[in-house]
Amino acid sequence: MIRCVSCGAEYDDDEVIYTCEKCGSVLELVSDIDVSKDIFDGRRDTLWKFKECIPVDESKIVSLDEGGTPFCKCDKLGDELGVNLYVKVEGSNPTGSFKDRGMTVGMTKAMELGVSTVGCASTGNTSASLAAYAARAGLRCIVFLPSGKVALGKLAQAMFHGAEVMSINGNFDEALEAMTALALEKHLYLLNSINPYRLEGQKTIGYEILRDLGWQSPDRIILPVGNAGNISAIWKGVSEFYNAGFVKDLPMMTGIQAEGACPVTNAFKKGERRVVPVENPETIATAIRIGAPVSDIKALNAIYDSNGYSETVTDEEILDAQKLLARTEGIGVEPASAASIAGLKKLVDQGVIDKGETITCVVTGHLLKDPNTAIDACTKPTEVDADIDTLRKLLMNK
Ligand SMILES: *Cc1c(COP(=O)(O)O)cnc(C)c1O
Ligand SMILES: [Zn+2]
Repeated sequence: MIRCVSCGAEYDDDEVIYTCEKCGSVLELVSDIDVSKDIFDGRRDTLWKFKECIPVDESKIVSLDEGGTPFCKCDKLGDELGVNLYVKVEGSNPTGSFKDRGMTVGMTKAMELGVSTVGCASTGNTSASLAAYAARAGLRCIVFLPSGKVALGKLAQAMFHGAEVMSINGNFDEALEAMTALALEKHLYLLNSINPYRLEGQKTIGYEILRDLGWQSPDRIILPVGNAGNISAIWKGVSEFYNAGFVKDLPMMTGIQAEGACPVTNAFKKGERRVVPVENPETIATAIRIGAPVSDIKALNAIYDSNGYSETVTDEEILDAQKLLARTEGIGVEPASAASIAGLKKLVDQGVIDKGETITCVVTGHLLKDPNTAIDACTKPTEVDADIDTLRKLLMNK
């Protein structure tokens, strides 16, 4: 069953519907978990190991073996900050971001519904993922990207997997508005995160974190927030497993935004349950360069209900954190993902996070998604002949 998060109106699972017909609010799937957690044991570690908890037709699954991502204990960085730190590495998904979790479920639903064309507006990763899954499913794929603001790796993926790519003169919010209008005219099936089936896939990040910790909850989960679907999905996942009795505690959901694109943090600091859109969002972390997040209600509910928090970080703090994670722990992430680490550092400094807390930072996308930003942050390699004497001298002088 699909239910409106604001007025509680109910819709059938097979209705193609993105927002509530009665009040215009966002929708969610309501699913009861009536299995024992033991049934997940011994299955291959993809998100479909949780298939009983994902409300789609198993016979229609379109998958690239997403989920089951690394869960790295980060003692060096954790000790430096005085917390017990784990990093959930979502860049290890098939196309290099957590979007694959949402897309495998969304594309499976598309097959169930029998649609022929899928579409999305994207800051980059959604389009990279959609293009790959549409290719796998054999469907036509249309993507709208904000002109000039998409990281190189993501653009390469969307084009290479055969999506029809339109470069929209406008920002993400404008591209999404146009794409949504076309979806409502039924020209295509919309696979942005306003589609509640996307979040049914992404909630498995929450499932896996609890499982990865040996069926315990961390004190806190920290992640970057853009369109605000992922924080909502992870909260849904941990809540479902908590309600099923698989764990005894829930994490504080902590959403980090870039200073130039922070409608959710602004709303949180005022105690509001809706955002006031940011007109011209700007940040180097293009994946979270979003001014009018569609899942603002769900995300703010998640933060308030979990006794969580929201804070902003500057682009400089993001780039510093990106380098810190890469050089202390060997984990390469794109700038938006590093916002979670930058936020962790800031909230420890502010005393919002207590020393000794068990924290999971979700790092959402791979370093190679945005090679230009990575190269710009480094000094150029020394050019030198392959002469042993010269090379030896250079090495010894370091
Ligand atoms: C999509 C994305 C985000 C933002 O997630 P939302 O669900 O839009 O809040 C953050 N980081 C990366 C790498 C992403 O691709
Ligand atoms: Zn409603």
